[in-house]
Amino acid sequence: MILNADFHIHSLFSMAASKDMRPQKLLDSCVIKGIDVIGSGDAIHPKWRQMWDDPDINYHGVTIIPTAEVEGKGKVHHLILMKDFDTAENIYSEMTPFSRNISTGGRPHVALTGERIAEIVHNNGGYIGPAHAFTPWTGMYGKFESITECYGSEVVDFLELGLSADTSYAAGIEELKEIPFLSNSDAHSPAVNKIAREFNRIKVSSNSVKDIISAVLNNRIVLNAGFFPEEGKYNRTACTRCFRQFSALKAESFNWKCPDDGGAIKRGVHDRAKYLSKEGFTTKRPDYVHIIPLGEIIKNVLKTSSPNTKGCLKLYAEFIREFDNEINVLLNVDPCELSELNAEVGLAVEKFRSNEIILHPGGGGMYGNFEIPYR
Ligand SMILES: [Zn+2]
Ligand SMILES: [Zn+2]
Repeated sequence: MILNADFHIHSLFSMAASKDMRPQKLLDSCVIKGIDVIGSGDAIHPKWRQMWDDPDINYHGVTIIPTAEVEGKGKVHHLILMKDFDTAENIYSEMTPFSRNISTGGRPHVALTGERIAEIVHNNGGYIGPAHAFTPWTGMYGKFESITECYGSEVVDFLELGLSADTSYAAGIEELKEIPFLSNSDAHSPAVNKIAREFNRIKVSSNSVKDIISAVLNNRIVLNAGFFPEEGKYNRTACTRCFRQFSALKAESFNWKCPDDGGAIKRGVHDRAKYLSKEGFTTKRPDYVHIIPLGEIIKNVLKTSSPNTKGCLKLYAEFIREFDNEINVLLNVDPCELSELNAEVGLAVEKFRSNEIILHPGGGGMYGNFEIPYR
């Protein structure tokens, strides 16, 4: 069977997370979204673990994978997958001496190297990989030149691409050739335009936790879906003051100082990935489809300021009623059928599927944006 999975979210105990981020809200959103497997997020946090003990939780058939994110030395973020909450408790106990906020923060800071963190996770039967690996400052490749530099002799079980990268950024990096890629939402709210804004399609023999983790480890991921990396604010190499964009070569020749205003030029994720990749090298990977949440498409079509206006929510509800869930609308349903409900939404979905979106990449701290050609 094929399942849609999102392995990275945060609980209400994480910084900047919504107070609504509770188990039942999360699960209800999964149904609307079409998500079959969701990471618990913050599984190391004692109170969040307890909240999953509530016997009244209605899972709607969604499988929970205990997952967590920790920040290690150098502020690098690591994603952890576990087979049960007991494993999370053991990891919590072992990391406690090295963390001041492990009992309070959903995504704790643990003052250990990537190698030590990975060692603790592996010794307790968990799995680990860099979270949003390409993000400047908190991603592994933002800090390190290689996996070994970060994780030493420990193996890495997967790599999370993150919102700032897609498969094309990582497929040319030789040291990743055996490592599965994940695309997850990192959602801090249970809203349907946050949950599963990036997700994975995996092939499994059952929806048990064991089979799902095995599918990840053995790269039975059949599709990755997520944002255009160009939407990110550090996608291209650009001046952090005036946002003028440069090629890496040009930036180098200007000594990373903007010739217009003397501002610092920040290397973009796109150039960073190119630098780490080996010329001509690539690996066979599942397709990556670029999507944005249906709510954002509807907002774009109705030209409103937010996907939460009355009009947007009404049209969104009509699509879900008609076609079961959002992922169905974005990836499966014939655009002609969608057009019967709303012609422009149908056309927009078609343009996303055929990769005809016009992109204006971000850089230097300014977000990128895109246009949907309604022709
Ligand atoms: Zn993170
Ligand atoms: Zn996170």
